[in-house]
Amino acid sequence: MEPSAPPGAVRALRARVLREAAVVVLLTAAFGVASVHWDLPAHLGGPVDDVVLVLAFSHLLMMVFGKRRSDELKAEAVNRREAEQQLRYRAQHDALTGLLNRAALAEAAERAVEEACAGGPSVAVLLLDLDRFKEVNDTLGHHVGDDLLRAVAHRLAGELREGTVLARLGGDEFVVLLRGCDAPGAEEVAQRAVRALRRPFPVDGLLLEVDGSCGVAVGGGTAADLLRHADVAMYAAKADHLGVAVYRPALDADAPDQLRTFGELRRAIRDGELRVHYQPRVSVADGRVTGVEALVRWEHPERGLVPPAEFIPLAEQTGLIRPLTDAVLDQALTAGRRWRDAGLELTVGVNLSARSLLDTGLADRVAELLLAHALPATALELEITESAAMKDPGRALEVLHRLRDLGVELSVDDYGTGHASLAYLTRLPVGTLKIDRSFVQTMELDAADRTIVRSTVDLAHSLGLQVVAEGVETRATWEELARLGCDSAQGYWLARPMPDADVPDAVAELHRRLAAPHVV
Ligand code: C2E
Ligand code: CA
Ligand code: CA
Repeated sequence: MEPSAPPGAVRALRARVLREAAVVVLLTAAFGVASVHWDLPAHLGGPVDDVVLVLAFSHLLMMVFGKRRSDELKAEAVNRREAEQQLRYRAQHDALTGLLNRAALAEAAERAVEEACAGGPSVAVLLLDLDRFKEVNDTLGHHVGDDLLRAVAHRLAGELREGTVLARLGGDEFVVLLRGCDAPGAEEVAQRAVRALRRPFPVDGLLLEVDGSCGVAVGGGTAADLLRHADVAMYAAKADHLGVAVYRPALDADAPDQLRTFGELRRAIRDGELRVHYQPRVSVADGRVTGVEALVRWEHPERGLVPPAEFIPLAEQTGLIRPLTDAVLDQALTAGRRWRDAGLELTVGVNLSARSLLDTGLADRVAELLLAHALPATALELEITESAAMKDPGRALEVLHRLRDLGVELSVDDYGTGHASLAYLTRLPVGTLKIDRSFVQTMELDAADRTIVRSTVDLAHSLGLQVVAEGVETRATWEELARLGCDSAQGYWLARPMPDADVPDAVAELHRRLAAPHVV
């Protein structure tokens, strides 16, 4: 569409043309008068008279003005074309990397799919996502993040055949559009791209290591379908640490929902939507509250308070568990500091997932957090499950020893649900066993469970471990635990998990309730 000139420009043009016309008329009239006065036709000779001369003169004038105007118009057209080209470039390219942007990619994909439907070459979409980009951005700053994205774009472009469509969708997501490639061919290109991402990137004097996950979708459906399928496959690749995954319908079954939650969870951690609640742990012998367990919830804007069972597994699968654990640790230690300032010395227990035990940077971060909150290491206890410690015993032991060396207490959570023997557990630097609530809840009615609890308490004590019973729901269970010599208890009958601000009152209330033996 021709852009219409603004009214101001039209007015200026009209004034100019009128001015030029007036100049032509005036000069032509003056020339006519001069021609008659000096009898120019006689001087020139030949078959001319005044009228012919005047006409010739006015034509000459108009030619001069016309030429000027046509030069201007030409220059204007060139300028406009350049401006339009620039605009079109900007509308189709990502300003940071110079690659095609999302809109241009969508167009190119639609064109390619149309051609494929008309018998042209088949289409494959590769969606690549960097695995550790956020970390780089958060810890080293946006300018390093930007440089890294440019370096990634450059390296990816170098891996592809000339003319291959490569786009950046935004953030750390890149898309490659392949023509005339079958699934194995597309997968090979994807593998090559991911391998290229694994080579360190020299950025800002540093060597940055980022990994990538790539989803591949081939043929079938609309361009939008292809892009969505590549996204689903990328998510599967990330979840299973595959590097590359090719879309198949089975991946779709629960993926759209999960995908949404993954993005949402990532945002929730970043935007501080996680809320930590605290459940008191009470000493059975004297009814004193010795600590609390930090239990995370997600305050979802639409779904309300989401329990951890609904998002911890996803966080564990996708690498979000590390920022999640860090966020919980930070909140728990902030609360611990606040309670101490109010005269309440409570140990805070924080749950670690299996993957945290493979995180060799964890101990350093814990040490930093303790320092930042001016808390002694004994203010923190970390709970691990026996199965977690069994996953990669060598590495887990190393991480646990580093934590223990800091002075942090360690406990084995959900004891009884895994397959580790007590003997194995004593090789871990742990001081406490938490008996799983499935045994405790039913011990009142089930003699077998009562026996398990009793023998666990005895065995643990003989190994020098403290025992906590979880899931104490009745006064009878509490009393039975006292008889068995269990050290501490946690459960709804004592107190439910609550926000940190409610803890001091709840502690006072528990102390009142449990002060005198059997006056409950
Ligand atoms: P867990 O570590 O075994 O935590 C105890 C769970 O039992 C909590 O559930 C708590 O609310 C519940 N509970 C406490 N007393 C009773 C009781 O008397 N009866 C019954 N039926 N349940 C009781 P919640 O808060 O839903 O947490 C579930 C699990 O989620 C936790 O089990 C833990 O494995 C995991 N989790 C919670 N917060 C975190 C976290 O910050 N990081 C990690 N990695 N896992 C977490
Ligand atoms: Ca726990
Ligand atoms: Ca537990």
